[in-house]
Amino acid sequence: MSAAKKALKRYFGYDQFRPLQDQVIQSVLQGEDAIVIMPTGGGKSICYQIPALIMDGLAIVVSPLIALMKDQVEGLHANGVEAEYLNSSQSQKQQAAVLERINQGEINLLYVSPEKLLSQEFYYLLLQLKINLFAIDEAHCISVWGHDFRPEYTKMAYLKKQFPHVPVIALTATADKLTQKDIVNQLGLVEPKVFISSFDRPNLSLNVAPGKDKFKSILGFIRQRPHQSGIIYCLSRKATEGLSEKLKNAGVNAAYYHAGLSAEERAKRQEDFITDEVPIICATIAFGMGIDKSNVRWVIHYNLPRNIESYYQEIGRAGRDGAKADTLLFYSYSDVIVHQRFIEESALKEVSQAKLERIQQFCDAQNCRRKILLSYFGEHLEEDCGNCDVCKNPPSSFDGTIIAQKAFSAIVRLKEQVAAGTLIDVLRGSSRQEILNKGFHKIKTYGVGKDISYQDWQQYLLQLLNMGFISVAYDHANALLLTEQGREVLFGERLVNLIHLAKMKSEPKPKPI
Ligand code: ADP
Ligand code: ZN
Repeated sequence: MSAAKKALKRYFGYDQFRPLQDQVIQSVLQGEDAIVIMPTGGGKSICYQIPALIMDGLAIVVSPLIALMKDQVEGLHANGVEAEYLNSSQSQKQQAAVLERINQGEINLLYVSPEKLLSQEFYYLLLQLKINLFAIDEAHCISVWGHDFRPEYTKMAYLKKQFPHVPVIALTATADKLTQKDIVNQLGLVEPKVFISSFDRPNLSLNVAPGKDKFKSILGFIRQRPHQSGIIYCLSRKATEGLSEKLKNAGVNAAYYHAGLSAEERAKRQEDFITDEVPIICATIAFGMGIDKSNVRWVIHYNLPRNIESYYQEIGRAGRDGAKADTLLFYSYSDVIVHQRFIEESALKEVSQAKLERIQQFCDAQNCRRKILLSYFGEHLEEDCGNCDVCKNPPSSFDGTIIAQKAFSAIVRLKEQVAAGTLIDVLRGSSRQEILNKGFHKIKTYGVGKDISYQDWQQYLLQLLNMGFISVAYDHANALLLTEQGREVLFGERLVNLIHLAKMKSEPKPKPI
């Protein structure tokens, strides 16, 4: 038996590794940098805990979740693992006791907050110790593209500079392609191995409905699913209260939950939900973090989530047991406006706006929802899923291979440097000054798409994006890039079906790319 497997059994009591865990561990043991992307609950922790236990010296785990550190470390103690943590919630005395244990070489794993890691005293401490590994948990915090950007994370590039021989492993549950790229660049990882476990949750049915007659639909939905447990996510605290009240009046056993309740009240409602005392909960996004309930059978979004990451995270709370579960998102333009108002007041406006537009496109789309979702996370689903509202009621389509090839050929000839607007102008043979100045009228595909209107091209490109044939470089003026699958289309190795545009739903108006 390998040392890793022995440690898995001895410390955690498990017989088998989950997918990728073993490969990640071997890579770290060989001293390689790695980036690990696994959904929540996928088993990321073991990927650094086991190497820490096998190698000589001390592993440093950086995590922004100070509130969870204590639990994590206590959990490890219970398994017989020597771990400690250092953060600002501890007294001087407590910190001194931990430092003493470190100096005595008694511990294998030290959890620290990013602030601690970046302090000068800690740097001097690191210099004196034998560090075998840096694990950066919640690594998406390093990127403005992640959903939880933390400026202090961007300063961690110094680790690789100061300790070039210590492997760094970055872990996260939610990373779109841009975030992945940011993590690698900003941490200065050296030829990192990239481990991405599938984000696909085939047991979840994905459904989007117009945000009309929501209460009536929800009541019908619940009545078709007696005794099932579910979560209804709302945008505002007030909405959670109003909705649970209406449900109770209709005889449904439901409660509400939001961050405005006292800590005791929140703990109680959470407990009631977990024990199925109150099986249905109307909640803001404050609900769900760290809740491990395997038999949630459905998740409804009463309002549009602010981006695809949040949506994925929230629907992911259904069907943890692997059995069939349903998700339903109500989409209305009024929610978009509410989000836009939040965005106006926030930092990172452009990023948030682009992400909001992407989830609108997801809702408007007439392509397999799962395909869109997975392609957002950089995965390609070969077949349509058959378990989403679009697959169950497919729009009529036609062979659009030639149209796609025209667009893809132009994308390649324009060196993947232009956004949708310029691409369409080239395809349609526009004699706009910028096109002429840049010499785009000389490329071979100039004007080959004249027969299709500007608006129709926008919609076709959106479909091609949704199907994962192209992607958008949001960090590069929204230039369109061709994916591997897109290249296969270009070289005639793959066909593309496009949806007749007359069949596109007209309300709300589809957003252009
Ligand atoms: P993540 O950090 O990816 O959200 P965790 O590391 O907290 O996930 O693991 C989620 C759960 O899965 C934990 O209860 C953990 O003990 C369990 N787990 C991890 N690896 C295995 C395994 N190989 N076999 C069985 N359970 C595992
Ligand atoms: Zn589908």
